Amino acid sequence: MRTGIFVLGLVSALALAGCAASPAPQTPAGKPGGSLPPIASLTDGVWMKGDLHIHSRHSKDSSNNPVSKIVKLAETVGMDFLCICDHDNHVDGDVAHHTWADPEFKSNSVLLLYGAEWTTHRGHGTALSARPYDHQRLYDVRDQRDVLIGKVKKELGLHLSANHPSGGDNFGFSYDIVDSIEVWNSAVWSRNANAIIIWDDMLKSGRKLTGRGGSDSHHGYPDTPEQAVELSRQAPANNVGTPTTWVFGTSRSADAVIAALTNGRVSVSANPYAPRVEFNADLNQDGAMDMMMGDNAAATGKPVAFRVRLVGNIPPGASYTVSVVKDGAPFGAFPMTGAAPAADFVDTPASAARSYYRVQVEGTQTPYPQVPESAQRSGNMIGLSNPIYFNFDPNF
Ligand SMILES: [Zn+2]
Ligand SMILES: [Zn+2]
Repeated sequence: MRTGIFVLGLVSALALAGCAASPAPQTPAGKPGGSLPPIASLTDGVWMKGDLHIHSRHSKDSSNNPVSKIVKLAETVGMDFLCICDHDNHVDGDVAHHTWADPEFKSNSVLLLYGAEWTTHRGHGTALSARPYDHQRLYDVRDQRDVLIGKVKKELGLHLSANHPSGGDNFGFSYDIVDSIEVWNSAVWSRNANAIIIWDDMLKSGRKLTGRGGSDSHHGYPDTPEQAVELSRQAPANNVGTPTTWVFGTSRSADAVIAALTNGRVSVSANPYAPRVEFNADLNQDGAMDMMMGDNAAATGKPVAFRVRLVGNIPPGASYTVSVVKDGAPFGAFPMTGAAPAADFVDTPASAARSYYRVQVEGTQTPYPQVPESAQRSGNMIGLSNPIYFNFDPNF
């Protein structure tokens, strides 16, 4: 571990010497970091995994994907939560009488969130709720000004998330109206580079914006060869849980899933069997972790010890590389191996400025037998964390 610290410190020093990083963002005047709320318990809760962006037969561009087929695969691979978010424009906003009213919309083991893909001329978002809500209202204001949309979203008590923010259906709304952003859309990790750039830009601007995953899968396995259509080839490549979003909630409930998603206690893994990235910080270097990803603390000006771990299925002989991003720029990279891969590094967050740290892990991919072509689509991308924050304004 100590070697890891030294190597990373060296990499960081070289990186800093080699380029002029943009100046550290300042905390807004009158918002001293010392007034931040206390950090929630790191142990009193439960890790839950799910997929937040799936289309069923209620989306007109889906095939062979009844709700029951999606739920069954989610149950088979041990998912805790699911958002079947069909295109609302395909039903003129009335998801309540389509997806949510489908007799197959039920599960004994998976928490089914209520939501829809808010599908507009300016981009798509996932609306999420623990219970039914009046989605029609959000649909009806889709072409209005962002200020009004944000007001309606707030009145409905929704978690709104920007989908596939860059590309053909790029998210063209203000990020002030969303609580999270889809930084990993579909099994094909390589297509998400621009989403990551947008995410870092929003984080650098002081927005404590959660990064999440979503398979955006539309197509199920045909029951018979006759049912196959051209896009049925996507079923073995992109399906439930490619990628898988993990949340650390205070209880196993839909409310807790959404609360965790909002506060950023979230990481994303390539598939339901891939290990989970955990990222913690020890503020006073006493050996006990004080923060996890999503948490925001006042920087003291003293060094902080960070720890990255992979938890879950580690294939024999697997090896990984952790890349640390600080304030949108590469901070360092170092290896992780063994049955319980972990790595440590130390850095001193500035006491009078905002900063954030997040990590991405690449390495030996974990097979997903039910969706066998997905591992190849994800390449060596294993997972990513949300940031650990210092001096972010909670009232931004
Ligand atoms: Zn979309
Ligand atoms: Zn979609």
